[in-house]
Amino acid sequence: MRILVIGGAGYVGSHTVRLLARSGHDVWVYDNLSRGHPQSVKEAELICGELSDREHLKRVFQQHEIEAVMHFAAFALVGESVAQPAMYYQNNVTATLELLEAMRESGVWRIVFSSTTATYGQPDKIPIAETTPQLPINPYGFTKLVIEHALTDYARAYGFGVASLRYFNAAGASPDGDIGEDHDPETHLIPIVLQTALGQRARIGIFGDDYPTPDGTCIRDYVHVDDLADAHLRALSHLRPGTNLQLNLGTGRGHSVLEVIQACRRVTGHPIPTQVEARRPGDPAELVADSSLARRVLHWQPRYMDIEEIVATAWNWHRRHPRGYSAE
Ligand code: UDP
Repeated sequence: MRILVIGGAGYVGSHTVRLLARSGHDVWVYDNLSRGHPQSVKEAELICGELSDREHLKRVFQQHEIEAVMHFAAFALVGESVAQPAMYYQNNVTATLELLEAMRESGVWRIVFSSTTATYGQPDKIPIAETTPQLPINPYGFTKLVIEHALTDYARAYGFGVASLRYFNAAGASPDGDIGEDHDPETHLIPIVLQTALGQRARIGIFGDDYPTPDGTCIRDYVHVDDLADAHLRALSHLRPGTNLQLNLGTGRGHSVLEVIQACRRVTGHPIPTQVEARRPGDPAELVADSSLARRVLHWQPRYMDIEEIVATAWNWHRRHPRGYSAE
């Protein structure tokens, strides 16, 4: 299929582009490079453009006879979304609506959308199934939920085939260490722990050890980025006019912050000093996926079920690229 991957220079996008290209699809990346890295796009043509530029998108659709869109381009930091909601609503909602209109006007009806566990807010019940009420607690989660609803409406009214994939905690890197996670500033747990192992940070701050969990630290469901990429391919092949899917993507296994740090110690052989700090506002105690629907509908099965294996792929990337893509 001929696929435009919007935000394909980002973390999950770049891994998906690679898998799409290696699976025989024709792939173009559309990215404004505000947060993505051109160096991460190795197996597709990179088109620089704004998500909000409907006319440019329409020209790209026409010129390359695009049949499907994967949409990864979004701001995705909870704290930033609280401080700068306008930026989040502009980019994640308003600009995405331009994309949907560009698609509608061009007759492109397939879309796989990056959604998030943040649409659930602080759920009472673990594991989280798709039937769990979606009650976001920050602007980031709201922006993603708005687009999920817009996609449902476009599927019903215009026959779009849509899949909103609600990722839990994306982690790891391609096992050959060629592409991986590189955010500036980095806020995610595993990269920060591994930067500590590389000596780039003195210690890792643990954001709260008084949560109602067995060891007092927050529990998350870490899912390998290549498993997420695989789910995108499966979702794409599932789309028919009017398909409207929302699926959780996680392993179903929860790991506390302390367990992740222990796994990193085992993988790196580094002592990784820690320091308990204040809770980070807006962090739910526990988020673990019930992904049985994705398993049933897409026949998806994460290949990386072991946190140490996931960390090992991330460590391979960080060791080979201690300064991320900037040194390439
Ligand atoms: N965390 C931490 N120290 C850090 C970064 C993250 O203790 O320096 C915790 C954070 O509070 C959360 C978990 O690690 O409980 C995962 O955080 P991350 O930012 O990686 O992903 P999120 O769950 O926010 O999407």
